Amino acid sequence: MGPCIFCQIAGGATATPFVYEDDEVVAFRDIQPQAPVHLLVVPRRHVASLNDALDEVALGRLLAAARRAAAQAGLQQYRVVVNTGAEAGQSVLHLHLHVLGGRVMAWPPG
Ligand code: 5GP
Ligand code: ZN
Repeated sequence: MGPCIFCQIAGGATATPFVYEDDEVVAFRDIQPQAPVHLLVVPRRHVASLNDALDEVALGRLLAAARRAAAQAGLQQYRVVVNTGAEAGQSVLHLHLHVLGGRVMAWPPG
């Protein structure tokens, strides 16, 4: 496997601080935030996308971790996004949930 930036971050190989972490998941701030609070919630285990995903228990834990990370960052209202595939806007091929909050969101998204 080539160097995957989210594997490197999750493994502690960068200076990126974690907003939340547990045995299976880490959450940290997006380097190019699209909202006042923009977190990325990432399984420690490398899977490319939701299509290659973890079992259903691990997926449930990932979503629960997003809720905890949002709370940790002071958010009670937020949006969770999972871009899957290039057409949907996925640019990093390691499954991640975006947690966005701190501003009013438009719907539908672009
Ligand atoms: P995607 O476009 O795949 O749904 O989301 C990938 C996100 O990862 C983007 O919002 C991008 O700004 C963020 N990102 C890419 N590289 C890094 C990095 O090295 N550190 C952090 N914190 N975020 C990154
Ligand atoms: Zn990875």
